[in-house]
Amino acid sequence: MDKNIKQIRDNFPILKRKINDSPLIYLDNAATAQIPVSVSKKMMDFDETYRANVHRGVHTLGMWATKYYESVREKVKDFIHAKSEREIVFTSGCTDSLNLVANTYGEQNIQAGDEIVVSIMEHHSNLLPWQQLAMRKHAKLKFIELDQEQKLDLADAKKKITPKTKIIAVAQVSNVLGCINPIKELAQLAHQNNAVIVVDGAQAIGHFDVNVQELEADFYAFSGHKMFGPDGIGVLYGRKKLLEKMPPYRLGGEMIANVTREGATWAPVPQKFEAGTPNIEGAIGLEGAIDFIEHVGLDKLRQYEQDLIDYVFPKIQKIAGLTFYGPQNISERSSVISFNMQGIHPHDLATALDLEGIEVRAGHHCAQPLMETLGVESTVRASFAIYNTQEEADKFLSALVVIKEFFQ
Ligand code: PLP
Repeated sequence: MDKNIKQIRDNFPILKRKINDSPLIYLDNAATAQIPVSVSKKMMDFDETYRANVHRGVHTLGMWATKYYESVREKVKDFIHAKSEREIVFTSGCTDSLNLVANTYGEQNIQAGDEIVVSIMEHHSNLLPWQQLAMRKHAKLKFIELDQEQKLDLADAKKKITPKTKIIAVAQVSNVLGCINPIKELAQLAHQNNAVIVVDGAQAIGHFDVNVQELEADFYAFSGHKMFGPDGIGVLYGRKKLLEKMPPYRLGGEMIANVTREGATWAPVPQKFEAGTPNIEGAIGLEGAIDFIEHVGLDKLRQYEQDLIDYVFPKIQKIAGLTFYGPQNISERSSVISFNMQGIHPHDLATALDLEGIEVRAGHHCAQPLMETLGVESTVRASFAIYNTQEEADKFLSALVVIKEFFQ
């Protein structure tokens, strides 16, 4: 094993665990990545040294906590190359971020007869808020379909996006197909039609260098737990001009400028969207996750994942009886591989792998319309991260061969 990877693995105590008497091989990183010690320690340090509510009170601890919390916003701004920290809204996760946009920007800007365009590969988190919005507003929801190679069909996108389109909502990377979508081209199509683009970055963040300005994204949503951070913290990036015009999402403490018996005025962005006590500890953990990623280096991390996929994909393709979903061209893929094994239910396959300590996902992956398009109910998904190794990949491949022989 590469010395650097060993050092990285040493940061993740869970990787030393055994599952069903075998060493844990964690290949469910697309669902949740593991947390390095540095992140848990950072959160614990905060609780032991700075814990207080933020944006309230004038006491020293409260001011320290506020300063710390706000410095994370600055860090996130730099991490995704936003223009201003005012464009960074803390949420409870990617799902929350997407619901926020649909229920504020969407509610304000969608009218009967307007069109919202999503892709058929969207996670339910980036489908249901738009589907319900379209139903409420008597707008039309249109789907960009897959091309022959099972990636986003850009030609179809060009047909579906019209002057009637007001919102385009697409994932940067599919959690099932592993394909990397042409966000910049879609953003340009959106803007040519005076529409906005909402990018679901759940599967891209922490794997790619996300630059919201280069992508020309109007909104960008992601979760901390998929990038080695804690659960319950996420981010919505929004262009300042758009955020400023949007109504608040949730009402309560800390999001107001002034309240009278008759009404209220709202705090400036981003506080307008952060009602109530935020997940302060989660934000601190998110900072730790960014530190971890930056310490490894995003280029190195991306290259390592790419090398791992370059190693695994041709080998797994040689196992007879497997069907793969998503583009077969490795250079167009993230570190997610979805497949089915002939004659074995995905859940049985995932259970058989679990008996060997190999944790993969089986199911519809919260993408039922995509499953319907692919003509399956579910798939098995193996997703790799920086701490996975070629040795683990080999064990996974061997286990697949043994399971296949056993079931046939
Ligand atoms: N979008 C995609 C593409 C995802 O893969 C996921 C989670 O798996 C989500 C959105 C939702 O993320 P969360 O559950 O962290 O809100």
